Amino acid sequence: MYAPGHVAAALMASAPALRWWAVAGALAPDVVDKPVAWALGGFSRSIGHSALVWLCLVGGAAVSRSERARAVALGVATHLIADLVDDVFYGLFATSQVASLWMLWPVARPDAWAVTLAAPVLSAPYAPWVVEGVVVALAVAGLVGSRDGRRA
Ligand SMILES: [Zn+2]
Repeated sequence: MYAPGHVAAALMASAPALRWWAVAGALAPDVVDKPVAWALGGFSRSIGHSALVWLCLVGGAAVSRSERARAVALGVATHLIADLVDDVFYGLFATSQVASLWMLWPVARPDAWAVTLAAPVLSAPYAPWVVEGVVVALAVAGLVGSRDGRRA
C-alpha cells in the first residue's frame, strides 16, 4: 500500500485527538526502510517493517504510559497489517506466492521464504489502487462524518 492508504488507515484506527501521532507511526516504516533500500540495495522492508521492532515500540509505549507513543505504535500496526494484506492479495493474483517473512526481520531475510502455489488461485487481476481507494474513501467519509457530528 502507498502513503495515502497508510494515512487513511491510521486516521480510521485512531482517536481524533491522537490521529496525527498515528499518522506519523503509519508513515514511519516506509520513511525508515525506503532510504535504506535505496542507499544499500536489497529488499525495501526491513527494520521499519519488523514486527519485532513494533513489539519494542509497544513495550516502550506500555512502560512510558504515553498516549502519543501508543498512537504511534497503533499507526505502525496499521501499516504492517495493510502491507501484509496487500502482499497476500497481490501474491495470490500476480505471483502465486502468498507470504514472505519481511515482518520477522532480522530473524529471517525478508525474501527468504514464500508459499508458492501451483497456479494462481484467483484469475481476476488484482488492482491495489482499488483497495487503496476504498480505504482512503472510507477515511475521508469518516472525517467528514465526524466534523458534521461536531457541528450538530
Ligand atoms: Zn510499507
